[in-house]
Amino acid sequence: MDVRRGIPRTDALLADPRFAEAVDRLGTALVKQAIIAAQERARRGEIPPEDVPGAVSATLPPRATTLRPVLNATGALLHTNLGRAPLSAAARDALATASGCTDVEYDLKTGKRAMRGRGILSALRAACPTAEAVLVVNNNAAALVLAATALASGRDIIISRGEMVEIGDGFRIPDLLVATGARLREVGTTNRTTVDDYVSAVGKETGFILKVHPSNFQVLGFTREASIRELSRIEVPGPDGHRKVPVVVDIGSGLLTPEPLLPDEPDAATALADGAALITASGDKLLGGPQAGLLLGHADLVTSLRRHPLARALRVDKLTLAALEATLIGPPTPTAQALHEPVQRLRERAGSLAAELTRHGVDARAVDCHAVIGGGGAPGVTLPSAAVSLAAPWAVPLRTGAQAIVGRIE
Ligand SMILES: *Cc1c(COP(=O)(O)O)cnc(C)c1O
Repeated sequence: MDVRRGIPRTDALLADPRFAEAVDRLGTALVKQAIIAAQERARRGEIPPEDVPGAVSATLPPRATTLRPVLNATGALLHTNLGRAPLSAAARDALATASGCTDVEYDLKTGKRAMRGRGILSALRAACPTAEAVLVVNNNAAALVLAATALASGRDIIISRGEMVEIGDGFRIPDLLVATGARLREVGTTNRTTVDDYVSAVGKETGFILKVHPSNFQVLGFTREASIRELSRIEVPGPDGHRKVPVVVDIGSGLLTPEPLLPDEPDAATALADGAALITASGDKLLGGPQAGLLLGHADLVTSLRRHPLARALRVDKLTLAALEATLIGPPTPTAQALHEPVQRLRERAGSLAAELTRHGVDARAVDCHAVIGGGGAPGVTLPSAAVSLAAPWAVPLRTGAQAIVGRIE
């Protein structure tokens, strides 16, 4: 008899009560995929027909996404390829709450439409009181696009040649700005740009001066840059007397207030106190939240950005609003915890993990090492850290095991 006759049919397996829970959780398509794969193995004679249901169970994906949870053991706190900042438990909980119907744009008391994301906006104002107004968009690149379009389309953005940054994956901030229809006026040189360079470039056509934090590289040696304080005093003659040129500052990492462990990393509160008119920043770098772009600054500028038609195309989802609010008002983020974890604690953890592995016959040693912020933040900063050292051939099985672990090879 042909063994293939004994292979259970797809319909029968889909209707099998053993797979009812999987169909509910994953949907028919994914269960069907696992069924077809198991049937093919039986047809090729790799498994007997009666083992098909078992093979289906064994190959069902754990969830309906190809994204897999990864343990970031790279020593880069924010790894762009691993999704940058991991969210706090509070932010994950907020995501789950907001994932159904929610009052994101609705006032439950009056039963009327309400301002979208009002909770997050007041949390952001409270976290950075020097900001008169705030706006949240899709990411920092979107924040820059919105600022350039609303404040400088058809006009000049003055930027230092030392701050023409490539963010990553081939994307460059100057290209992004030019794509909005703004003109770039480059001033100074790669290593030195003075206030006078900016002063001689500003004029009637100036939209704003842009300062970009060189967040992923360092220029060392014979260098000079103009401070926000100096730039914020620059004025141009206008029809009704002199007007100040707005200084927009892309701080990159999203620190709202100074971080003592990272003294060279700019923060929004200080930049605003120094005279910046508008700050742009990422939500998923040192702020430790979901992907988002933050705009903080003078009320008139933020209002004109909020009302610009493009704002609608860049607005964030309720999930982002929920996770960002919990990041701001909730407990310290995993990123902040990792940054502040005493090295002694890291050594203890590495030591006990290495001992545990050794008990299981794995050649593992606890070693001192260095960690970095990563993800476009605090270039040149190394944090004393501790690691578990394994032989290099472990890299692949660790990455592809049931719990993916991504380390680094040294
Ligand atoms: C990371 C970074 C960006 C881009 O931010 P996204 O949130 O990834 O869009 C822009 N400017 C600077 C200085 C950065 O560090």
